[in-house]
Amino acid sequence: MAERKKKVCSFCGRGEHDVKLLISGMNGYICDHCVAQAFDILKANHLLDDDGEDKHDFSSWDSVEVPKPHEIKDYLDQYVIGQDEAKRYLSVAVYNHYKRIKQAPTDDGVEIEKSNIIMVGSTGTGKTLLARTIAKLLDVPFTIVDATVFTEAGYVGEDVESILSRLLQVADYNVELAERGIVFIDEVDKIARKSDNPSITRDVSGEGVQQSLLKLLEGSMVNVPPKGGRKHPDQDYVHIDTKNILFICGGAFDGIERKIAQRLNTHVVGYNSVQNVKKIDKKDMMKYILPQDLKSFGLIPEIIGRLPVLTYLNPLDKEALRSILVEPKNSIVKQYQKLFEIDGIKLEFEDGVFDFIVDKAMEYKLGARGLRSIVESVMMDAMFDVPSENVKEFTVTLDYAKSQLDKAHLQKLETD
Ligand code: ADP
Repeated sequence: MAERKKKVCSFCGRGEHDVKLLISGMNGYICDHCVAQAFDILKANHLLDDDGEDKHDFSSWDSVEVPKPHEIKDYLDQYVIGQDEAKRYLSVAVYNHYKRIKQAPTDDGVEIEKSNIIMVGSTGTGKTLLARTIAKLLDVPFTIVDATVFTEAGYVGEDVESILSRLLQVADYNVELAERGIVFIDEVDKIARKSDNPSITRDVSGEGVQQSLLKLLEGSMVNVPPKGGRKHPDQDYVHIDTKNILFICGGAFDGIERKIAQRLNTHVVGYNSVQNVKKIDKKDMMKYILPQDLKSFGLIPEIIGRLPVLTYLNPLDKEALRSILVEPKNSIVKQYQKLFEIDGIKLEFEDGVFDFIVDKAMEYKLGARGLRSIVESVMMDAMFDVPSENVKEFTVTLDYAKSQLDKAHLQKLETD
């Protein structure tokens, strides 16, 4: 009888009786001693922190190769459909941001200033997705905050300084790292003042917040409560210099097309008006956006001046919605297929189902955000039943999709 093969650690050769634990792999084993040693090696190389957490080694930037704008855009292309203009602007801004923070101080008197960004586009067109995708690519501390939670200091709500508290948390309380981070401020249009004219009385929710935000955007030393908020009044403040923090702002600016149209109209009265009128694409006014339109909308000039890169996102048409459904690396459809695959079930969609879903999303005016809720409604029963049915395949037919959606009473969303 053949002797049973002795299990030994493939790294140190210790036998299974000489160790506490022998973990088996594809073609070998590793013992607890070697695992512990590997852990120490990872720590020594700064790949894990003392608690064994995967560590973003922000400090190793000097040796990191800066991704070129083309590479950044290629990466964004894998996850975000269309929005080329915004992707190009973001890629350049992020590339320059890297270069600034890697640059050794020089004595030629040239100091590259940061270019904060503002992205304008209807809700659900991919502003946050762009910011999140950039965050995945980068090894800089990154945080997303919502401008609607802020109020002027002294009022109920959060102070704008809490933005930096979050950045500090992401940077593991390393001030130097936080000072080179990126912040995405969503819904900045919600802090617009109510009219273009400066208010006589201060406007707590709008102008006041813009004034406080200005301090952060323009680069100054800010006292930051490390734990954020006002719940810990006794905490010591940390001083953070915002000079090198890149701010990306995003907002839907609902109705700004009207301001753009007004401006274009007043301009085309001039002598070459006929030519200009011809060129204006009335369906897509957003591409003519200029800083003065943000001012008409209610951003104060000082804020606009601190957001020199202005870019826009296109509304998503049918074709874009269809691509969003299936094409991105982690598209909605791929996510559901993965969910089924985990149970060993192949999920397929009949021709016409995707177009049906897209049509419904257009009909309900839910944009890309709506795609997910529609697919969820279509798949709900299948996700409930199929795992217990011992099947290897599930195909969503057009009839099935239609009946499921009817059943889900999506009419509710229509009225939202
Ligand atoms: P907003 O512009 O309001 O910040 P989001 O980025 O949050 O919109 O988009 C909402 C969801 O819609 C995203 O999670 C994503 O699934 C989808 N989506 C929106 N725009 C795009 C796009 N251009 N490409 C791929 N998916 C998109």
